[in-house]
Amino acid sequence: MKQITIVGGGLVGSLLAIFLAKRGHTVNVYERRADPRKTDTYAGRSINLVVSHRGWTALRAAGVEEAVKEIVVPVHARMMHDRDGKLNRVPYSIENRAIHSVSRGELNRRLLTEAEKLPNVSLHFNQKCMDVDLDNARCSFQRAGGEVKEIGADVVFGSDGAFSAVRAKMMLGRFSYSQEYIEHDYKEVAFPANADGTPKMDPQCLHIWPRRYYMMMGLANQDGGFTGTLFMPHTASADSPGFDTVRTEAEVTTFFKTHFADAMPIVPDLVEQYLRNPQSNLVIVRCDPWTYKDKVALIGDAAHAIVPFYGEGMNSGYEDCKVLNDLLNEHGDDNWGTVLDAYGKQRKPNGDAIADLSMRNFVEMRDLVADPQFILRKKIEGHLQAKHPDQWLPLYSQVKFTDKPYVDALREGQRHDRIMEEVLAIPDIENKWDGVEVEKLALGMLKSV
Ligand SMILES: Cc1cc2nc3c(=O)[nH]c(=O)nc-3n(C[C@H](O)[C@H](O)[C@H](O)COP(=O)(O)OP(=O)(O)OC[C@H]3O[C@@H](n4cnc5c(N)ncnc54)[C@H](O)[C@@H]3O)c2cc1C
Repeated sequence: MKQITIVGGGLVGSLLAIFLAKRGHTVNVYERRADPRKTDTYAGRSINLVVSHRGWTALRAAGVEEAVKEIVVPVHARMMHDRDGKLNRVPYSIENRAIHSVSRGELNRRLLTEAEKLPNVSLHFNQKCMDVDLDNARCSFQRAGGEVKEIGADVVFGSDGAFSAVRAKMMLGRFSYSQEYIEHDYKEVAFPANADGTPKMDPQCLHIWPRRYYMMMGLANQDGGFTGTLFMPHTASADSPGFDTVRTEAEVTTFFKTHFADAMPIVPDLVEQYLRNPQSNLVIVRCDPWTYKDKVALIGDAAHAIVPFYGEGMNSGYEDCKVLNDLLNEHGDDNWGTVLDAYGKQRKPNGDAIADLSMRNFVEMRDLVADPQFILRKKIEGHLQAKHPDQWLPLYSQVKFTDKPYVDALREGQRHDRIMEEVLAIPDIENKWDGVEVEKLALGMLKSV
C-alpha cells in the first residue's frame, strides 16, 4: 500500500481521502486553511451547492451517502420569477426527480469528519503547499508564517482548487493551460426564513429571476432561508447594468426595485447586504495533462474549474474520484502509472465537455427560461420523454440524472438542438406540439442526424 499526499482538503480532497484510505493507503491531507470544524472558515461564504446524481454515485461508492443525506434539501423544479412577480414552475424531470441543495461548509465539515474516522487518514490544517518535486512526489508545506517542511510520498494529488499550487508546478514542464474569466461576477445575499422558521418561498424549487443579461438565483438552506446569488456583468454595457454601475445605495435600491421587485419584501436588508457582501469572479480553467508519470495527478477544480451554471463543478470532481477508484479496482493498487494515465485520458475530455455544457446552461438560465419558444421546447421534450423514455432523454436529465459521460451528453444535446430547430419550425407548432407529426419528425431525425 502507498503513502499518499493530498494537497487541499476542500470538497474533493476530503472525499478522495476517504476513497483512498478505504483501499488501505496511508493518506495525509494538507489544507491551507484552518480546520473548518473549529473555526468559521466559511463565514461570509454561505454558498450552497447542488448535489446531483453523479455526486451521489460517488458518495455512495465511498460509503458516505447516508452521512450527506442528513444535511440536504431536495429541489424538484425551477421557479421562474418574472419582472411582475409572476411565477412559473418547471419541474426538472417528468419523474419528479430531485437535485439536492447543501451548505458548502456543512458538506466539507461532514466529509472531513468521515475521513478522520479512518485510522489511516491524517488531516493537517494551516499547511500551505509551497512547492512540489514532481519526480519524487515530495511537497513542501508552510505553516502560516512558520517553518517549511518537506513531506515525501509515493503519489501526490492536487485537489487544491482553481488556483492550484500543484498545477503551477506542472506548468513548468510540457503542459497546456488556459484561464478565462467570464464577463459575469457574482454576489451573494441571504434570504431569511419567516420568524417561525418556515421558508418564505417554495424550498423545493431553485428560484430564478432571469433578466437576459443578468440574473438572480435562490437555493434553499436547511434552516428555512435561501442563499441568493446575483450574477451580473463586471462592467456595464449598452445592454446591461454592471457591478460597476450599481454601487451607491440609491443605485442599488433602484436596481432591485426595477428588476427584482418581488425579492425586496422577502429580504428586507437586500440593499445593505448588496453593499456589504463581496463581489467574486468566475473563472474557467482547462489544462492538459492532468497527471505526471506515476507520481502526481490533478483532481476537481485544480484540473477543471468551470462556471457554476450547471451546478456540476463539485459533482464532476466527485465523479473524478469515483472513476479513479474504479480504475484502481481494474488495474490494482500497485499500477499507478497505468491508473493515472487512464484517469487523465478518460477524464480530461469530460472536464472540457462539462465546461462547455456549463456555459451553455448559463445562456439557458439567463435568457432562455423566460423565452416562450424555450418553454415550448421543454414541453415538447417532456412529452417525447414521457411517451418514449427509451429514445428521448433531455440534455438536462442526461447531465443531472445519469452517469453518462459528459462528452456523450454534450454530443446528444447538440443532436437534440438540431432536431428541435426543425420541430419548432413546424407551422402552428404551438397547437400541434403533442401531436403525431412532432413525434414522427423528432424520433425519425434521431436515427439520421
Ligand atoms: C457560486 C458558485 C456556485 C457553485 N455551485 C455548485 C453546485 O451547485 N454544484 C456543484 O457541483 N458545484 C458548484 N460549484 C463549484 C464547486 O464549488 C467547486 O467545483 C468545488 O468547490 C471544487 O472542489 P475542490 O475541492 O476541487 O476545490 P475547492 O473547493 O476550491 O477546495 C480546494 C481546497 O484546497 C485548499 N488549497 C488551495 N491552495 C492550497 C495550497 N497551496 N496548499 C494547501 N491547500 C490549498 C483550499 O483552501 C481549499 O480548501 C459552485 C461554485 C461557485 C463559485
